[in-house]
Amino acid sequence: RWSANGDRSPREKKMVATVSLAGCFGCHMSLLDIDEEILDLVDLVEFHKSPLTDIKRFTQRCDLGIVEGGCCNTENIETLREFRENCDILVAVGECAIWGGLPAMRNTIPLGECLEEAFINAQTNDEGEGRVPYHEDLPKLLNRVYACNEIVKIDYLIPGCPPSASHLWKVIRNILWGEEFSVLYHEFKYD
Ligand code: SF4
Repeated sequence: RWSANGDRSPREKKMVATVSLAGCFGCHMSLLDIDEEILDLVDLVEFHKSPLTDIKRFTQRCDLGIVEGGCCNTENIETLREFRENCDILVAVGECAIWGGLPAMRNTIPLGECLEEAFINAQTNDEGEGRVPYHEDLPKLLNRVYACNEIVKIDYLIPGCPPSASHLWKVIRNILWGEEFSVLYHEFKYD
């Protein structure tokens, strides 16, 4: 099931890390949307640092890093750089990682105006009650949302919002084991 030609010969198990930066987690949900093929997946990849495993720190190098979302704050940048340092191959998955996606809609508006609109002038605020949240432990917002490849070198981009599970795994299997697939038109997904 995992090979284009039906070959089920053993393949070296690969270590994969994933992260959601400024994204909605939809790309991660799509990654898991492979029905019964998840059983094959367990034999072929092991998830290391990832929201899927709740492993917080890299304790070993990974073959592949999968990044969802762009960078909207200082913590996103630190995390992305950590992924670049610890993963042999880094893949930006989905429009948010590739060019900023929906969060980048704020890029045409000065950050101060965005914060005022969201926290002070919001219609759900009581008169005079709104304030912009601040705590020294909160990550600092960046002046705009950055695509991942503006911060670190990205090896591959997988377009879509979110990319379909079949599209994602065809590309990942090609990257990790050199299996060749055609990505069909209907597998390019923009919900
Ligand atoms: Fe969510 Fe789409 Fe961005 Fe993926 S690309 S994180 S599905 S908004």
